[in-house]
Amino acid sequence: MAKTFDVCIVGSGAGGGMAAYALTKAGADVALLEAGDVWYASKNAKMMFPNYASPRRGGSTRLKPFGEFDGCEGGWEIDGEPYTKAPGTNFLWWRARMLGGRTNHWGRISLRFGPDDFRRKTLDGMGDDWPITYDDVAPYYDRIDQLIGIYGSREGIHNEPDGLFQPAPAPRCYELLIKKASDKLNITCIPARRSVITKPLNGRAACHYCGQCGRGCTVKANFSSPDVLIAPALATGKLTLMTNAMVREVTVGADGLANGVSYIDKKTGADSRVNARVVVLAASALETARILFNSRSSKFPDGMANSSGTVGKYITDTTGGAVSGYVPAMENHAGHNEDGAGGMHVYMPWWLDNSKLDFPRGYHIEVGGGVRQPGAGFMGGIHRYPPGGGYGVKLKEDYRKYYGATVSFEGRGEMIPNDDTYCELDPTVVDRFGIPVLRFHWKWTDAEINQVKHMQETFRSLIAEMGGQVFDPMPTKENGYGIAAGGQIIHELGGARMGNDPKTSVVTGNCQAHDVKNLFLADGAPFVSQADKNPTWTILALAWRTSDYIADQMKKRAL
Ligand SMILES: Cc1cc2nc3c(=O)[nH]c(=O)nc-3n(C[C@H](O)[C@H](O)[C@H](O)COP(=O)(O)OP(=O)(O)OC[C@H]3O[C@@H](n4cnc5c(N)ncnc54)[C@H](O)[C@@H]3O)c2cc1C
Ligand code: SF4
Repeated sequence: MAKTFDVCIVGSGAGGGMAAYALTKAGADVALLEAGDVWYASKNAKMMFPNYASPRRGGSTRLKPFGEFDGCEGGWEIDGEPYTKAPGTNFLWWRARMLGGRTNHWGRISLRFGPDDFRRKTLDGMGDDWPITYDDVAPYYDRIDQLIGIYGSREGIHNEPDGLFQPAPAPRCYELLIKKASDKLNITCIPARRSVITKPLNGRAACHYCGQCGRGCTVKANFSSPDVLIAPALATGKLTLMTNAMVREVTVGADGLANGVSYIDKKTGADSRVNARVVVLAASALETARILFNSRSSKFPDGMANSSGTVGKYITDTTGGAVSGYVPAMENHAGHNEDGAGGMHVYMPWWLDNSKLDFPRGYHIEVGGGVRQPGAGFMGGIHRYPPGGGYGVKLKEDYRKYYGATVSFEGRGEMIPNDDTYCELDPTVVDRFGIPVLRFHWKWTDAEINQVKHMQETFRSLIAEMGGQVFDPMPTKENGYGIAAGGQIIHELGGARMGNDPKTSVVTGNCQAHDVKNLFLADGAPFVSQADKNPTWTILALAWRTSDYIADQMKKRAL
């Protein structure tokens, strides 16, 4: 008879890796199914490769949109795995297909949600409150800070809770100028918070400031699920890792409980299954909604755990607006050491009061600039730097003059869930495995559009304050002030939200399906709201919290 695992986890990214770590450490016998192949940054990353070693000088390709050496297998398109969009919908979906999912190249910006982020409806009447509070999650943020490591600074800002930080790296030249301009404009600018270690931790080396986090870190100084969570989980001897296993659905027994999953072995094309007493879905928020939809049976005709009809609803992404510019004060800069972590050393958390603005929720600002390893598309075209260009010696001189004399600002704001933004199964389209795909509906409201207008105005003021000039004119209202497409900021959340009421939510505050008590979610699907924070630190914290709950319930024989 086939083995029955204690727990079967689907997906090995932030949420799945965390669940595998916590559950194996708690003694459970765990199967981890991952649609992609094995990949460890410590063994496979191209961290130290120069761009000129790549045939396209580090440029992007259709299947490697962030450059040939980027750490992610997957992207906006995956051959044979489409998704569809309703007419008029502008939506992009980044999917990873590899051990560790998107944690292999994510930006490592690691922000806690604040106390207000769990109770926005109470505060402004829009969206919904979470059934849990910051205090429920805080101990898990603390544990993650200590296990994974994070740099930052203690600031005591009410809705930007401090963590257990390692020292943040010093600001680079362009970041000092940004800080100066921010201070002038009364915009809070503080050390960034990123899951990069600046001191050795749990056998991992400190960052050596090569700046290549997006390719994956061979010394494990930044967080990726395979090196930091899955390897220790395997070391317990309690984890069975099954890669190239594309899960089709959660299967159900006569008792209405989940009894495992069915999957396609991508290497052989064979249909197979894993039996388990508990199933944890962590395939990434929208893939998890897709698996629930596809887990149809006579017991669950509209998909598993969907008696409320809310699977696929209340989905959100972070809003995005960006402005970059050229700053004469930084031209002809004297060569100096600008090495640093592969991401920002300073950032701006939300600093204003929405009750005085024409949009309800905030955003934070991510910064970029200075010198970087040149590659294809380097500097975005010399003609943009007045009066750059020409031929021969003049061209070379201009490159030297303008290299590193840029700054960029990207706003990352909170979207409020709305009824016109959701996903469902496409009635006709299937992927190469014959599994029905998702169809997306997306709509921004004035809440988001006005917020992005404010981003544009703020970033332009910052560049002006630095004495610089922006590269592009202000986008028009008709263009939504340049708001990024839904999904484009790659923080998609929701689709199986948590709540106390089984009529309006899919899972409880412990991420346990209301309808199926041995089915749990451990990715971004249960999020009730987006917050003006990047979501992964909260995905990790909730996944650990959910895993503790599962372990406890198994111990009590309640599962
Ligand atoms: C370029 C980039 C930068 C980012 N920067 C940040 C940042 O700075 N801060 C931040 O907080 N977040 C950031 N994010 C988002 C972050 O990566 C995600 O929030 C996080 O990885 C989500 O974790 P997850 O476990 O839900 O999903 P993922 O990490 O996507 O993992 C899901 C896994 O499930 C597997 N899977 C999917 N479907 C199936 C199936 N049917 N069967 C089996 N396996 C399946 C996938 O192959 C994948 O490995 C960034 C993302 C990208 C792409
Ligand atoms: S910058 Fe630091 S964390 Fe990032 S890849 Fe280099 S050594 Fe690793």
